[in-house]
Amino acid sequence: MPPLAPGVIICRAMPPAIVVHGGAGIYGDEALPEAVAGVAAAAAAGFARLRAGGSAVEGVLAAVRALEDDLAFNAGTGAVLTSEGTVEHDASLMDGRDLSAGAVGALVGFKNPVAAADEVRRASPHVFMVGEGAARFARERGLEQVDPAALVTPKQRAKWLAERERRLAGLAAGAPLKHGTVGAVALDAQGHVAAATSTGGTFFKLPGRVGDSPVIGAGSYADDAAGAASATGQGEAILRVTLTRAAVDRMRAGASAQRAAEDSIEELSLRTGGEGGIILVSPRGELGIAFNTRRMSRAFCGLDHPTPVALIER
Ligand code: ASP
Repeated sequence: MPPLAPGVIICRAMPPAIVVHGGAGIYGDEALPEAVAGVAAAAAAGFARLRAGGSAVEGVLAAVRALEDDLAFNAGTGAVLTSEGTVEHDASLMDGRDLSAGAVGALVGFKNPVAAADEVRRASPHVFMVGEGAARFARERGLEQVDPAALVTPKQRAKWLAERERRLAGLAAGAPLKHGTVGAVALDAQGHVAAATSTGGTFFKLPGRVGDSPVIGAGSYADDAAGAASATGQGEAILRVTLTRAAVDRMRAGASAQRAAEDSIEELSLRTGGEGGIILVSPRGELGIAFNTRRMSRAFCGLDHPTPVALIER
């Protein structure tokens, strides 16, 4: 298991417990401190909800909202821009108690897309809503709207301008795919699990492109009978192996959370050549983390580790 902290290998947690990720992939060295601080703060926010008696759903919501509001991550404010310089969010959330799930794709103008996904789950007859219809629904449900321009940070704008220059000059894509998608899995004190994932997608994506993050079974999956999973990485590859459902099914068949995480990432590599990472929790409190990228920021809290343990590769 990749250690959760240098020299600390944790495979099991006492419930309630939460694991969060801030994306697998390319992080510049300068981004490491803010990534570690961000995932630690998100794990603490989710754990606080769980410890106060909150459900696994409330725990993952609190953690992912915190990451969406953190400018360091590719979700909520600070998400990457499309080829047209706009922000289009994807998010999903699944409740392991009853397999209820909600998701939004290509959502424009909302501060916390994960809250919109949860609203689809709780208050609509649907699982997955996209584009203008999803925005109208979220608006009618009173979710916090923002001027889409307010979601664009100066850093992302500069990155986009540089890439546009390159393309206008006829050069090949310059910026490597940077993964800063966020997600969380939680196990509450009642033994229920949940998963949530949120992203701005891939840098310079075509408007309307939707990745794995909002797709149930690809970006997020949760089932009290087996466990919960959240994925990050190249969406076009993750979708083809339905990564989170595959990992949860491995746990259902008896694999430990860590074995399931590693085997699922190996399948992603072998079958698609894609890059990604996954976090898992089982209903017994086993934790699983695996990725085939150089770095993935992640953090963990459990009753026996109430102070967040956060890590990214140096
Ligand atoms: N999986 C996300 C997507 O393809 C990107 C990421 O995880 O960084 O939209």
